Amino acid sequence: MLKIQNYIDGKLVDAISGASLPNIDPSEGRAYSMVPDSDAKDVELAVQAAKEAFLTWSIMPAEKRSAVLSRIADFIERDIQELARAESIDNGKTLSLALSLDIPRAASNIRFYATGALHFSSEAHITGNEAVNYTLRVPTGVVGCISPWNLPLYLFTWKIAPALAAGCTVVAKPSELTPMTAYLFSKLCVEAGLPPGVLNIVNGLGGKAGQAIIEHPEIVSISFTGGTVTGKKIAATAAPMLKKLSLELGGKNPNIIFADCDLKKAINTSIQSSFLNQGEICLCGSRILVERSIYEQFLNEFVLEVKKLRVGDPLEQDIQVGALVSEAHMNKVLGYIELAQNEGGVIRCGGKRAKISGRCEDGYFVQPTVITDLDYKCRTNQEEIFGPVVTVAPFDSEEQAVAMANSTTYGLAATIWTENLSRAHRIAAQVKSGIIWINCWLFRDLRTPFGGMKQSGVGREGGWDAMKFFTEAKNVCIKI
Ligand code: NAD
Repeated sequence: MLKIQNYIDGKLVDAISGASLPNIDPSEGRAYSMVPDSDAKDVELAVQAAKEAFLTWSIMPAEKRSAVLSRIADFIERDIQELARAESIDNGKTLSLALSLDIPRAASNIRFYATGALHFSSEAHITGNEAVNYTLRVPTGVVGCISPWNLPLYLFTWKIAPALAAGCTVVAKPSELTPMTAYLFSKLCVEAGLPPGVLNIVNGLGGKAGQAIIEHPEIVSISFTGGTVTGKKIAATAAPMLKKLSLELGGKNPNIIFADCDLKKAINTSIQSSFLNQGEICLCGSRILVERSIYEQFLNEFVLEVKKLRVGDPLEQDIQVGALVSEAHMNKVLGYIELAQNEGGVIRCGGKRAKISGRCEDGYFVQPTVITDLDYKCRTNQEEIFGPVVTVAPFDSEEQAVAMANSTTYGLAATIWTENLSRAHRIAAQVKSGIIWINCWLFRDLRTPFGGMKQSGVGREGGWDAMKFFTEAKNVCIKI
């Protein structure tokens, strides 16, 4: 069985203890590779390698850092087929999505920050004719980057690219559920000539390898993407150590549809925003709020389209909904569907585990599910499900739509559908989310700030925000 390895000090190595964990292919429900079960000793090795590498990487001319990162981006593009297939097998997502979204975006992340390194500059402030101040941005040091399983290489690179571009060295941990593409990525780093120790990848469990990264006194900044509960735990450890923290956490995003929208577009995009990647995207719109005058029409047409979605073997070309990432996660999602029914919800379509014949007969598939008739304050409408499950509810006024949208503890993203420009601005201003899409969804410009309000996170990624996170401002004042 294929053995994934850690990447420490430029070398591919096993966990020091020799321990490993089974890595499951969720579409077949069986282990297909082994992943190192690393602990604090492996993290210690990685930190020491990163510390040593920081001495040269942090002062290397930006052009050189940029060149090696660009080579890595080239190699991702060269190996897109192999990486996409690996991502699909490891996560359960469809191969077509990995080919069109995950892997191209991983290459874009690296390339975006490879060029960003060339343009990141100091500021100067002239204080009359008395002084000149210049503000340097110095890399913070060895940083920890911890990423989740839903968009494995995409989110892994989204964190490490700005850290490396800014001159930091990194100890990173991918999710133990989806370690494969980070492993393949480490081989590309070796091939591209990334100096040893600049990036270190330590695999293993969150509570063990992950916690050791958070606790390590020589790791000065932590960039984390994952669940809100984990984020709070990380903050509880890191805050008393006065570490810099960037937390990208969960969501329960509203998708607000007004009667004056382009209904066809709203339905087509809502299918995507509900079920893309099996609904396992933090930005998915899991609460669809529809103005009452078009509620029945929307619901009927939406459910008709949902029923057409093809669920099945993620490696097959025309499949739109693949497997959920793990058995535990599938059971959590099915548990929420049961809860919804107990709360009075009506299942309009789906609602069950999907049985696929052949290779995937033991896989973790759930039918795309639409639920109505729930109070917006019930648990189903307040807690993150993170699967192919959406609720649909009517509203009567702008005020009510905004109140429903803002009723959860989360504030990551929201989508608004209306052809009325004034209304679009008015609602965007009132919805408490870090990201608002109007008449579109998941339309991304990597320069824009990315992150959530309330329990959806702390800080922003993207553009200069990420480069600033991985650097400290140092002001030098020269008296003339
Ligand atoms: P998770 O919190 O269980 O795990 C995320 C990562 O943290 C994994 O690598 C895990 O091993 C690690 N981890 C767990 N406990 C840890 C600890 N004590 N110390 C250090 N590391 C630890 O999340 P998940 O289930 O992998 O991902 C799903 C969640 O991620 C959802 O809530 C989703 O909304 C969120 N998410 C948010 C964004 C965003 O940008 N806001 C993007 C994607 C996913």
